[in-house]
Order: sequence, then C-alpha cells, then structure tokens
Amino acid sequence: MDFQDSAEEIAFRNEVKSWLEDNVPTAKELEGLSYIEQCKLWQKRKYDAGWACIRWPKEFGGRGASAIEQVILSQEEAKFDVPAGVFSIGQGMAAPTLMTWADEAAKERYLPKLASGEEIWCQLFSEPAGGSDLAALRTKAEKDGDEWVINGQKIWTSGAHYSDFGILVVRTDPSVPKHKGLSYFYLDMKSPGVEIKPIKQISGDANFNEVYFTDVRIPDSQRLGEVGQGWQVSLTTLMNERASIGGGGSAVGFDSVFKLAQKVDIDGEPAIKNAAVRAKLADWYCKEAGLKYTGYRSMSALSRGEIPGPENSIGKLVGAPKTQDMASFAIDLMEMSGAIWDDAFAEEAGLFQGTYMGIPGLRIAGGTDEIMANIIAERVLGLPQEPRMDKGIPFSQVPTGN
Ligand SMILES: Cc1cc2nc3c(=O)[nH]c(=O)nc-3n(C[C@H](O)[C@H](O)[C@H](O)COP(=O)(O)OP(=O)(O)OC[C@H]3O[C@@H](n4cnc5c(N)ncnc54)[C@H](O)[C@@H]3O)c2cc1C
Repeated sequence: MDFQDSAEEIAFRNEVKSWLEDNVPTAKELEGLSYIEQCKLWQKRKYDAGWACIRWPKEFGGRGASAIEQVILSQEEAKFDVPAGVFSIGQGMAAPTLMTWADEAAKERYLPKLASGEEIWCQLFSEPAGGSDLAALRTKAEKDGDEWVINGQKIWTSGAHYSDFGILVVRTDPSVPKHKGLSYFYLDMKSPGVEIKPIKQISGDANFNEVYFTDVRIPDSQRLGEVGQGWQVSLTTLMNERASIGGGGSAVGFDSVFKLAQKVDIDGEPAIKNAAVRAKLADWYCKEAGLKYTGYRSMSALSRGEIPGPENSIGKLVGAPKTQDMASFAIDLMEMSGAIWDDAFAEEAGLFQGTYMGIPGLRIAGGTDEIMANIIAERVLGLPQEPRMDKGIPFSQVPTGN
C-alpha cells in the first residue's frame, strides 16, 4: 500500500484543483434552474474543458486518463457542492456496456452525448420477480421482422421520468435455463407503449419508477450482444454498477456527529462529555479509519493498473449501515427537535433526517447487504456456494417461471 501521490499524481491533482476553483458554478449561475438543468450546465462545462468522463477515449469525449487520475478528479470534485446526480447510470453503467458491446456507429452516436450530459440514460433491469435474482426476470421480447416487441414491467427504475434512453434486459427464450434465455437492448424512453409511473418514497421524493411496456417495438439494431447473451452483457453493466456505488460516501460521518455532540446537551452538559456518546463516537471513528484504509488499498491497486476485486464489497456492506446508525443516533441526540425536517429549522439544515430517510435505499441498491455478504463469503473467503434450486432447469419449468 502506498498512500502518497506520486510526483505525476501531485501535478495532476494541482491542475484539477485549480480548474475546479475557477470553474465550479456559482450560486448565482445556478439560480432559477431546475436540478437537471444545473447538472447539465456543470457537465457541459466539464466536457467542453476536457474534464468529463476522463477515462474514456478522446474520440468519445474523454481524455484517455488512468483510473487513478479519475479517482483524484472525483476526490477533488467532491470537495465542492456541485450538481451532478443524474448522470451516474448513463456514464457509469450504460456507457461501459456500450463501449464493450456496441458497434462503432452506436458508440459515435451515443457516447459523446452521454459525456456532455446532453442525454440521460436509465437502467431497466429490476422487476417485481427479479431483483437480487435478476436472471429470474419475466419481461419478454418476441421477434417480429427486424424488430422486437416488448411486454412486461420493470420497477425501481431511477430517473426513468427524465431519461432519454434506457438499457433493458428481457427474456427472449423461456425454454432454456434462466441465465441463457436473456437478451439486452437499449431504447428511446419516448417509444410508444412505454408508461412511467413514479413511486413515492418515505422522503416524499419520487426518484424511481415503475415502467410498463405494452407492445413496445425496438429495432434489432439496438440489441447489444447476441440473442441469448443478455446475461453476459448485463454482467458488464453490473460490475460497473458495483464499482460506481462503492462505499456510498455521505456527508454524515464522524466529523458531523462529533460537531453535533459538541452543540447539543444531555442532562445540562454538552453531549460530547457523556461516556455513552463518546464510546459510540470512538467505535465509528475506528470503522471510518478501517474503511478509509481499505479504500486506499483499492486506490493503490488502481494506481498500479490492477482492478480491485470482490473485497471491495466491504465498503458498501460496512459503510451504509454505519451511516444509517450515525444518522439515527444524531436524530436521537436532538431529542424532540430531531423530528423536524425542515432546512430552515433543523440542525445542519436537516442533513441527518434526510440521510436517515435515504440510506436504507443505499443498503438495497446495487446489491443488498445480504448479497454483498454472499459475495464476500463465496468469492473472497471461498466458502461453499449457497444451493441454487433452479440451476440448469428451463425457465418455463421453474415453479415461479412463466
Ligand atoms: C434507491 C434504489 C435505486 C434503484 N435503482 C434501480 C435502477 O435504476 N434500475 C434497476 O433496475 N433497479 C434499481 N433498483 C433496484 C435494486 O437493484 C433492487 O432493489 C435490488 O437488486 C434488490 O432486489 P429486490 O428489491 O427485488 O429485493 P429481493 O431480491 O426480493 O430481496 C428481498 C430480501 O431478500 C434478501 N435476499 C435475496 N436473495 C438473497 C440470498 N440469495 N441470500 C440472502 N438473502 C437474500 C435481500 O437481501 C432482501 O433483504 C434500485 C433500488 C433502490 C433501493
């Protein structure tokens, strides 16, 4: 493990810092714009200056940078409060899949507009019967001439309501075992027959949706991989999803709870003097240090040109429950005022309340806690695989199949 930047990395970090300082949009520039317009403004500015999707080849809008340079840029950008939340699926998951599986014409058509933020993509994978066990999905596609006709339902599709395109995995052959009968497409989200219904979350937001397909037609030219090869193509997307979700950095951490404990009282004394509070803080400090150095281990691997392995799953498995715990504890520390979630009145503008409402989603998205633990058990510790009752059986003969 090497925690220090090399000479080249220091030079790169300085270049990034100075560009960010000069170019991060001011509050005045963002005034009056919707969140999506704000994200698009910042993304286009980065693109025009060569700081968007920097690992991508130059011809697709990147600058052919190394993985460690991407990490440095992300670290420096994270120090600013920039609007950037709507491109992660398109740039982090759809684009690597297109780069691996699409033909040159499709790459030229779609990748630069993904990098510039002009077009937003969503991921149409999960279904009511296909989440952790994605290959159990049932939305079907039937060939009709040069087109495929799609019928079925997706769920939890983040950003479907503002996306231009979607990546879609469907069942094209139910007569073979579940992983072998899938195919992978991309489609225009404005296609006739696509119906998007928002799902309201506990926070009051509606960031994800149910998406219904009724006789939606997709040209065969928008298929990625061979017919029946959808699972392999999906793995490209899923590997990139895990990498992009990672530890799920949050503004709620040791520093924010420590600061709160200095401000609020327990029995007439600052909470920070209370032994039980101090014990909790010490525990979180240790966990955070462990996560930080585990993160450095991945960074060192990237810096050496290696790919971090399944041990990376620990970042999300430890980080997300820790954040949930801390947010919950902070709300308790505020006593009755913890129930107020209003930017104008709540401590830290409602940071702890907002995190508490959102973090259960992070423990589910991109692989639940249990799935992360399975990955660590099977692929890192080499423990026996869990029994898979439907292995090798045609999907149509699985009791829960079609
Ligand atoms: C915030 C958020 C955003 C999302 N965005 C998208 C998106 O944009 N596109 C998309 O396609 N999907 C999206 N999802 C869906 C997400 O991928 C699924 O919710 C996730 O894969 C879990 O699937 P499920 O909800 O069907 O739960 P299930 O798979 O039904 O799991 C239910 C419970 O059973 C447990 N379980 C399941 N299998 C096992 C096992 N083998 N061993 C032990 N325990 C098990 C799980 O851990 C969980 O506790 C999103 C989800 C969230 C929360």
